[in-house]
Amino acid sequence: MFENTKLTPLSQFGEFALIDHLTKDAKIKHTSTIKGIGDDAAVLNYTEKQIVVTTDLLVEGVHFDLSYTPLKHLGYKSVIVNLSDVCAMNARPKQITVSIAVSSRFPVEALEELYSGIYLACEKYQIDLIGGDTTSSQTGLLISVTAIGEVMPNKVVYRNGAQVNDLICVSGDLGGAYLGLQLLEREKKIFKENPDIQPVLEGYDYILERQLKPEARIDIIELLEKLELQPTSMIDISDGLSSELLHICKQSEVGCDVYEVKVPIDYVSKKMADEFEINPVVAALNGGEDYELLFTLPLSSFDTIKSLQEFTIIGKITEKESGCQMVSLDGSLMPLKAQGWNGLTNG
Ligand code: ADP
Ligand code: MG
Repeated sequence: MFENTKLTPLSQFGEFALIDHLTKDAKIKHTSTIKGIGDDAAVLNYTEKQIVVTTDLLVEGVHFDLSYTPLKHLGYKSVIVNLSDVCAMNARPKQITVSIAVSSRFPVEALEELYSGIYLACEKYQIDLIGGDTTSSQTGLLISVTAIGEVMPNKVVYRNGAQVNDLICVSGDLGGAYLGLQLLEREKKIFKENPDIQPVLEGYDYILERQLKPEARIDIIELLEKLELQPTSMIDISDGLSSELLHICKQSEVGCDVYEVKVPIDYVSKKMADEFEINPVVAALNGGEDYELLFTLPLSSFDTIKSLQEFTIIGKITEKESGCQMVSLDGSLMPLKAQGWNGLTNG
């Protein structure tokens, strides 16, 4: 990645110089940020709003693989996964903190790349970077992002509000991020066995982007507000549709029917699934990291939403006693399971 440049070892910077270097471009955009980087703590001012706070910790070798994840994308994604959680509360993300632990095998330029992705996300989503922490690690890279957002007290949406007869809706399409990861893993394996073979990634840009450069669906939050629709429950899809639906149903004490035919899957995802001999619906149900929003709306909103392109009605909330199931194409019922990635095999 840095073939033609002279690299700067981390040791050339002291901790404080490194922090200054990485944070010199941080710009404050919001009046709610009273004090950002530069003191012992940041200071925020939220008056009548409620504040939502969420954190994710990403560990090299566990959550990301630097052999195919560009550092800029990693920086971007580590911000996005947190903004997505803020959106899932029906809140607007405003500030982030970023903490990193780095080993000396990373040159300063690598951290610049990481931060260029972080700043890109901050620009795109109008977020203030207000602080963080910097420390060393024995081996890999760790990144922890905390996001802070605001919401009017009567607008916050939890996982536990779904009601019987509500419509189940999902934004965008599903399974792409998982299939993008499978493709990257396959090409990595081929490259390891024979470094002369170049990865074949053409034609699959969409799913690669779904894996490497996800977006937070703040546009959906804005659309719902514009339509004056308040979801009864909401969650973001980080672990697959099945698992997230089960969270909503468990916390709301309801059941659900999801229709296989309605589960939104992109053409490129279908093509990739075919190649891997995976059922694309299984990838949508159990693959993770799509960062779409899953939410429930009262049946009375049907006329308002039925012809929208931004999200799809995939089923309905039922009585708890009916359980959580998918209605297959042939009408048979399949219980939903929180399988996660490990359960993904053929068929
Ligand atoms: P302290 O000794 O109180 O932990 P630091 O010297 O670590 O303070 O941090 C100084 C300032 O720089 C603080 O405002 C802190 O939030 C910010 N900061 C430290 N590391 C990072 C980082 N990796 N990204 C963004 N801001 C950081
Ligand atoms: Mg510190």
